[in-house]
Amino acid sequence: MNLLTDAWIPVQQTGLMEKITLQQLLCGEKQGELCLPRDDMEFACLQLLVAITQVLFTPADRKLLIQRIKQPLTHEEFVEGCEGKLDWFDLEHSETPFMQFRGVKAKELTPMDKLMAGVADGTNKTFVNPQGLVAGLCAGCVSIAFYNTAYNCPSMGGGFKSGMRGSTPITVLIRGEDLRQTLWHNVLTQDSLAREMPWYGLATVTPPNYVQGVVRESKIPASKIGLIQGLFWQPARFELAPIEFEGSCSCCGQMLPLYTGFKKEKFNYTIDGVWPHPLSARTFAIKKGQKEEKFPSFTTTQPSWVHLAKLVVEKDNGKEGYHPVPIITQLKSFGAKRLDLMVGGYRNNQATVLERRHEMYSLANGWQNNTQLVDELINQAQEFKRALRKALYLFGEGVKDRFAGAGVNLTDQYDTIFYQQTEQLMHESFAEVDFDQPSITLDALASSLKRQVIKLFDQAVFPYQQEPKMLKALASSRRLLNKYLKELEAHGGNHEQ
Ligand SMILES: [Zn+2]
Repeated sequence: MNLLTDAWIPVQQTGLMEKITLQQLLCGEKQGELCLPRDDMEFACLQLLVAITQVLFTPADRKLLIQRIKQPLTHEEFVEGCEGKLDWFDLEHSETPFMQFRGVKAKELTPMDKLMAGVADGTNKTFVNPQGLVAGLCAGCVSIAFYNTAYNCPSMGGGFKSGMRGSTPITVLIRGEDLRQTLWHNVLTQDSLAREMPWYGLATVTPPNYVQGVVRESKIPASKIGLIQGLFWQPARFELAPIEFEGSCSCCGQMLPLYTGFKKEKFNYTIDGVWPHPLSARTFAIKKGQKEEKFPSFTTTQPSWVHLAKLVVEKDNGKEGYHPVPIITQLKSFGAKRLDLMVGGYRNNQATVLERRHEMYSLANGWQNNTQLVDELINQAQEFKRALRKALYLFGEGVKDRFAGAGVNLTDQYDTIFYQQTEQLMHESFAEVDFDQPSITLDALASSLKRQVIKLFDQAVFPYQQEPKMLKALASSRRLLNKYLKELEAHGGNHEQ
């Protein structure tokens, strides 16, 4: 199965899923939206399609990229882009199979469920997975699963490397009008690449690492990794076992020849430095005069909007800051108006995936001139949450020798409830904010958050209201809450225009 020529892309236009080829998609011969039962696999499929489009058809500049978004490729352009690269995308290639190495040594085969994040580890209660373990995957779904494992998942455990962005990075994609346009919206031009990655020119000479090979225990500087290699980097040594039988694919559900196992082998090497992935933001801190960069990930149960500033805002206070996602920087430099984003990633505990996230955000027109406001909106919401938390902490703990608390810790529970209750509000704020009038936006959000926080405080202390011994704790914690809310209001009024 070759990803450049065979029908493997699962799309849906009028109800039924069908698989189409890359040519049909990019040349506008067939349309439809991606369609797989699991949203994480759908997201990984989109990432893979973007990576292929990027390396085959890197547009020179803004003008050509806009033309690509507007007009499908011609057949000749498609064929030209694929020239010399077919061998890299063949899942069963005799020497350089897609995202695999030949000659992997393993005593036994690993079942396919190991390639489907969160299926095999038994702790995936938050997942909605189809019943039963993964029996087998078709060639298209194996390719997507390999890509997902290489870029989005924790490693397979000790001795196995995780992806080049670290364990479970957040991935950001810009949403276009349809699937074809979405792909192009996430492709960097040569101009943008030269800005993000001055060594971009290496792209023409370094094929994917599973084609070029990786030396065991080697140290590879990130600046020696070109565009193609960076987008097709297999961190682990995997090799598929041959197809066993035909059946219903555990991912897409179609009746197809299935792969049921693969070989994996421990393998170590080091990448020195950070490779600037086009779909990832980076945070940094200056430590001992050295800039240390990291890819943000969902490390807590906080909702994804908490991370939004890191993804879109350029920030540098001399000690720490954020580099926004390169494709967003590019769109900003084009002066694009509205920004529609898809944000996805897993939350893990070492090799175990605890949760998967996949959310859409929109930023109103004007974002390109004032991304800073996104940071301010998020900080403001976090401050209100903190006010609630501190008041509830006092209510629960009391003050020694003055009054007793309720003896229950309501803070974590109400952090979660605060996030649930404000999720919609935050999404709406980002989508409707008037970027030219920051004060109005911040004030409007502040008064909504204030109402919400008072409501949640009332709800939390309600069961204790009839207890005379709680009167002091109630009064003191409410006073503290009001004090914080006043301070926040005063602070809100001081925002610069
Ligand atoms: Zn399948």
